[in-house]
Amino acid sequence: MQTYDGLLAAVTAHEGQTQEVRDPATGAVIGHAPVHSVEAVDRAIETAAAAAASWAAISDADRAALLHRAADAVEAHADALVELLSREQGKPLNGPNARFEVGACAVWLRAAADTPHPNHEIINDESGRATMHYRPIGVVAAITPWNWPLMIAIWQIAPSLRMGNTVVQKPSEYTPLSGLALVRILNTVLPEGVLQSVSGGGDLGARLTSSPKVGKIMFTGSTATGKKIIEASAEHVTRLTLELGGNDAGIVLPDVDAKAIAPDLFWGAFINTGQTCAALKRLYVHDSVYDEVVAELVAFARTVPMGVGLEEQNELGPLQNKMQYDIVDRLVQSAIDSGATIECGGNPEREAPGFFYPTTIVSNIDPHNPLVVEEQFGPALPVVRFSDLDEALVLANELEVGLGASVWSSDREKALDVAARMESGTVWINGHGGLHPMIPFGGAKQSGYGKEFGAEGLKAVAVAQVVSG
Ligand code: NAD
Repeated sequence: MQTYDGLLAAVTAHEGQTQEVRDPATGAVIGHAPVHSVEAVDRAIETAAAAAASWAAISDADRAALLHRAADAVEAHADALVELLSREQGKPLNGPNARFEVGACAVWLRAAADTPHPNHEIINDESGRATMHYRPIGVVAAITPWNWPLMIAIWQIAPSLRMGNTVVQKPSEYTPLSGLALVRILNTVLPEGVLQSVSGGGDLGARLTSSPKVGKIMFTGSTATGKKIIEASAEHVTRLTLELGGNDAGIVLPDVDAKAIAPDLFWGAFINTGQTCAALKRLYVHDSVYDEVVAELVAFARTVPMGVGLEEQNELGPLQNKMQYDIVDRLVQSAIDSGATIECGGNPEREAPGFFYPTTIVSNIDPHNPLVVEEQFGPALPVVRFSDLDEALVLANELEVGLGASVWSSDREKALDVAARMESGTVWINGHGGLHPMIPFGGAKQSGYGKEFGAEGLKAVAVAQVVSG
């Protein structure tokens, strides 16, 4: 078991180009990460390509066993990884945060190992015989954002390795150390060359996505970057799974128990301090329960402490970076300027250290205010009043993104009807954002394409080959 200091030292760069990494809660420098060159990216791709044949030749059972050993390694180093993640990303230890994220890495590694291989017989009768085989693609480029730096990396790495591919991973330049530490821990059990990481900015991501030796790109990040990757993929017809931005809507029907749903509504929106792709980002509440739902949400919000991640009592932390803080600040200001009601929050202590933005709930807001129609990706939830369900559905569906959505009702049939009318990759009923390693996850519209998790996720990192005859 490695200590925090040991793990940090192992991923800290001492020579070549480096970047300073700061704790978003305090501003203190926690370390220096390497900034690799494009030549280093090319070398990593070459190494991964060279390792691909021998990795693909290992039996599926042996690869699955190695993923279990990788999960054991994550668990053995969990404390150090949790501390590094909390310091670098800002997320608290407790609540759906750092300990939860490291635990999820082990869960998803084991799930990728245990999911039945998707190979299957298509037909075998008098008309003919055909089987479907899911073969390795080769080298997978895995590119991640800064909000869930470990869990999202595992979502890309684990199925790719299981299906016999080698991987070059690039963490976000905002959270490089966590990503590098994770790969280092996984590599204590994996054969050499099978999994590598490169650390640096978007130029390195662009190098990966334009390489003729990369057969598949797994990308999670903004829609704007996703569009660049689509362009880059055109030249070599590189396969893509794109998990892009979202602005998830939730619709609360009149028959809810406001007090009972308030905690789940809150965590649906404020998980990871709102910095979650599939968080509830705009809430539409029926007029008959509107005041009560807002009051219960605000009452619950006041019970959830925000502060420095490493202090055990906190469950909400800072924004990870100034760019995101400025986005949240601008959007809340647009709500204030429009005359919306700030039920709580909305007045950050600008002189205090760290990128803390207080938990903010905004009511009586115009449905087209920027805080509603732009992705805030932070701790500020707009609550829109509606009286006509059809109108609420038009508002929920009118944006160009569609990652997740939710319906809140005590009548399951009614909720199912509404779910069928929502344009998103997932609709949750009486919850928002819950993920399961066997349930496929992915976006509709400009939130991306391709599914992750379960059998669908394994198929997405393989070449589907029909053997006929
Ligand atoms: P981003 O797009 O700025 O960066 C993501 C990654 O892409 C980083 O590693 C970055 O270095 C890299 N990159 C930048 N330019 C590139 C290029 N031209 N080619 C290849 N790679 C490039 O996103 P972000 O700000 O880190 O993440 C926040 C966004 O991600 C939000 O919009 C959020 O909704 C979305 N997100 C989506 C999901 C999902 O599952 N759908 C999950 C988490 C975050």
